[in-house]
Amino acid sequence: MSYRAVKGMNDILPDEVARWHALERAFRETAELHGYAEIRTPVVEGTELFVRSIGETTDVVEKEMYTFSHHSESLTLRPEGTAGAARAYVEHKAHAKEPVSRWYYLGPMFRAERPQRGRYRQFYQAGCEIFGDPGPACDAEMIDMLVGLFRRLGVADVVANIGSIGGAATRDRYRAVLRDFLAPKAGELSDHARARLDANPLRILDSKDPRDQAACQGAPNILDVLDEADRAHFEALLGHLDSLGTPYVVDPLLVRGLDYYTRTLFELKSSAGELGSQNTLCGGGRYDDMIRGLGGPAVPAIGFAMGLERILLALGPIDAPKRTTCSVAPMGARAVSKALELGRALREAGVVADVDGRGNSLKSMLRRADGLGARFCIVLGDAELERGAVQLKDLAQHTQEELPMAAVVARVAGGAG
Ligand code: ATP
Ligand code: MG
Repeated sequence: MSYRAVKGMNDILPDEVARWHALERAFRETAELHGYAEIRTPVVEGTELFVRSIGETTDVVEKEMYTFSHHSESLTLRPEGTAGAARAYVEHKAHAKEPVSRWYYLGPMFRAERPQRGRYRQFYQAGCEIFGDPGPACDAEMIDMLVGLFRRLGVADVVANIGSIGGAATRDRYRAVLRDFLAPKAGELSDHARARLDANPLRILDSKDPRDQAACQGAPNILDVLDEADRAHFEALLGHLDSLGTPYVVDPLLVRGLDYYTRTLFELKSSAGELGSQNTLCGGGRYDDMIRGLGGPAVPAIGFAMGLERILLALGPIDAPKRTTCSVAPMGARAVSKALELGRALREAGVVADVDGRGNSLKSMLRRADGLGARFCIVLGDAELERGAVQLKDLAQHTQEELPMAAVVARVAGGAG
């Protein structure tokens, strides 16, 4: 019997983790500079929360959720982060504490999709939500923050695609216009799209099936059916982006996979690195009706989520700051406790220290030090203990010197430069 990770769910091994940390650090710093505070919600929620907020006829709810029952309660592993954040916002009456809440989150999400490069069944998202600001200024600020973050990370060729799907009334109008446009082409659509023609024709615009994409060519433009208030909101957003100098492209056929959006929609795409067709790094939009829909007050909201695996595929190597590493190699049983003491003193001085207490040969201890990428190795045996000294090997310079035990920590801590 050999055990393997569940299909589509990946181990992130220690030698990959430095890149994750660098990305997560850049995200947290950027979000915190913009006044977002972290929220951590459970990875499991009641199924109904996702059905209500994401929408019954979406891909996520129809076929991608990990749902199970426990003591006759239906539970679901979270497929995205907004529903949980919105639930927490309502449950803890955050609106009564502050007029505007800015929250960010970072963690694993779960969707039962066909695994491929950039598409997994457990994947990580980082996202931000703003509750209580109707925009459009904060919409522009959020998009500008993302463009800035991707620039800082060095993701090449990022394009921000922006659209608007207006409010509920506009969406109803557009749904009808789109149904009329697609109905004569019903025979050319995928089975799945044809089944949605009545209930949710907007979803067809978001389909990845080439037949559906072909049928949608020349579809009517939602921007033409926006009502006056929606149009003014959209134009003001573009005006803010223009004056900030934030690059963007208007995509009138942008429809995102979840039903909860209103007005502003955006996606950031890149052609960099190993992304292939999974090239959407980040998606977001406004969801002004969700908080009320979940039983809260009428509070407007906007948010985005970005896929960390996809961003890492788009990025080249990330230089993680390296600390000095020192290996301590005691020869003989007596030297081991002194080595543990030295290890502690080195760490207190900010040096990454590894004490090799296996009782192995010097050769094998030096091999371990090399494997760690250690800059220094401190060797001490009975003879050194007698003299109150150690041998300090500089593994980069290939030199060795004898130092008084009391001096070695300062020498290592100061000596890497
Ligand atoms: P796609 O159209 O690629 O399926 P989506 O519209 O379902 O994406 P969102 O729900 O908007 O994606 O999620 C935001 C981001 O999370 C995506 O832009 C992507 O970077 C990432 N993401 C979504 N699903 C997955 C997945 N299964 N594996 C890895 N990353 C994902
Ligand atoms: Mg999807």
